[in-house]
Amino acid sequence: MTRRAFADYGASERWTADACVIGGGAGGAATACALAEQGLSVVVLEQGSHWHPRQFQQDAAWAYRNIYVEQGARSAVGNGLIPVPGGRGVGGSTLINSAIAFRTPLPVMREWHEHHGCERITPERFGPKLDRVWDTLRVVVNPVVFQRNNNLVFKRGADALGLPGQWLARSAPGCVGCGVCYLGCPTGGKFSVDRTFLVEALQTGRCEVHADCRVDAVDTEGDKVVAVRGRFIDPTSLVPGGGFEVRARVFVVAAGAVATPQLLLRNGLADGTTAGAWLFLHPATGMLARFPWEIRPWRGVTQGYFVDRWERGYLLQTYTASPDQTYVGMPFSLGDQLVEIIRDLRYMAMAGPLVHDEDSRGGVTAQGMTYFLGDGDRRKLLAGMRECSEVFFAAGATEVYPGIVGAAPIRSVAGIDAAIPDDVAARQIYLYASHPMGTCRMGADPATSCADPDGRVWGWGNLYLADTSLFPTSLGVNPQVTTMAMGLTVGEAIGERG
Ligand SMILES: Cc1cc2nc3c(=O)[nH]c(=O)nc-3n(C[C@H](O)[C@H](O)[C@H](O)COP(=O)(O)OP(=O)(O)OC[C@H]3O[C@@H](n4cnc5c(N)ncnc54)[C@H](O)[C@@H]3O)c2cc1C
Repeated sequence: MTRRAFADYGASERWTADACVIGGGAGGAATACALAEQGLSVVVLEQGSHWHPRQFQQDAAWAYRNIYVEQGARSAVGNGLIPVPGGRGVGGSTLINSAIAFRTPLPVMREWHEHHGCERITPERFGPKLDRVWDTLRVVVNPVVFQRNNNLVFKRGADALGLPGQWLARSAPGCVGCGVCYLGCPTGGKFSVDRTFLVEALQTGRCEVHADCRVDAVDTEGDKVVAVRGRFIDPTSLVPGGGFEVRARVFVVAAGAVATPQLLLRNGLADGTTAGAWLFLHPATGMLARFPWEIRPWRGVTQGYFVDRWERGYLLQTYTASPDQTYVGMPFSLGDQLVEIIRDLRYMAMAGPLVHDEDSRGGVTAQGMTYFLGDGDRRKLLAGMRECSEVFFAAGATEVYPGIVGAAPIRSVAGIDAAIPDDVAARQIYLYASHPMGTCRMGADPATSCADPDGRVWGWGNLYLADTSLFPTSLGVNPQVTTMAMGLTVGEAIGERG
């Protein structure tokens, strides 16, 4: 059997394979596929469960409990408190992502290659990996009929101002615009990695995907990892049950940018000078705008339209959220305003800036995550909020809720600068981030990186990383495509070493 889950396991299990991949998300799935295609037998271990689209319930509480890490409560603390959600389950964060697809920007590739010594990250070598991801995910722009008002009004505002707006390319060729990507795609229209890369890996006949298996411990001999051990997680009670051990020639940790450094640190495989020493998040804020006609922002493509402000360090992207998610996602201090927003949600549109973070500083320890929004990044975020407000007003909004805790709604373009001045403190901004990355960066210098340019952890002969933790810097665009291309790259590097 190639897909196994809690009900299939005895009290204890022992498995062997050429390669063991820890984490069944974007990076892990692509790596497993690359390894299996090169003839290696692969065991993928994922702490969450296998899911079928029909099991997803359009209910935020259900989703947080079943398909989010830390039941949706993961956050970073610093000069603000930032929720940092992530996915849990076979498919990882692609189960709950919005399917936005961007290729790795060329300036970022150049920086990773020239300043960090990542010799595989060049247009010539990395470009074909990005092409493969694009094809495997069947990336498309969804038809206008499924975009609905939330995306259409933002496009209208951007067009009126002459801004460089575009429909977002998405890995959701079958999307019908039900707007619940964050709760798991109930139609199967989104091509998450459980439905793409892992299917291709399973089709080789050399890959097994073991769900409900949380890896806790790593056994080593000399400079080699010889086994990983962990517990089965009962998907109903979430209580750990029996235990397993996997022995392999090669181990790949792809548990995501938070759990990967934590696994390394807890097992003494790297120290805090390189594992978890950095953290980028793409800090974002959610803004709401009231229109005199119905928008119904919970309908339509979840994130369908964006304004490209790469040169200013941010992107403006639309987003949808279900009413219950909007309610729990709002800062409590909004008080009466929160009640007003929920009451009138059908008239609200949603969008906000996402920042390419450069001077913010953060990190991951075995216990948690810190993140301090830098002054430059804070200013970029505020500039994005001002421009987003202009777009809403150009589209016909009557009020904009600026994403600043406790701030009154803005009623006209003339009021934007006063409502969103440059001196708003980080802790006052309603921050949100779903792209943790760069915590175990790859590079040519072991003093300033955690893994070498092949993704192999410095000091270990057969231990690799293959997720967003490897990014040497912040990416500046939504990261799933780059993560998968990174997974293919690490898989190829392992295959070349034999
Ligand atoms: C709400 C949301 C929306 C997003 N929208 C987009 C988007 O539209 N476009 C885009 O490009 N990106 C988006 N992203 C980001 C993108 O999905 C992630 O960057 C990408 O999936 C990260 O890949 P990864 O392999 O690093 O980690 P993940 O995909 O998160 O996979 C890590 C996996 O490891 C598992 N794991 C962790 N610890 C263990 C352990 N000890 N044992 C076993 N398994 C373990 C986790 O359960 C998880 O399944 C979004 C993310 C979120 C959360």
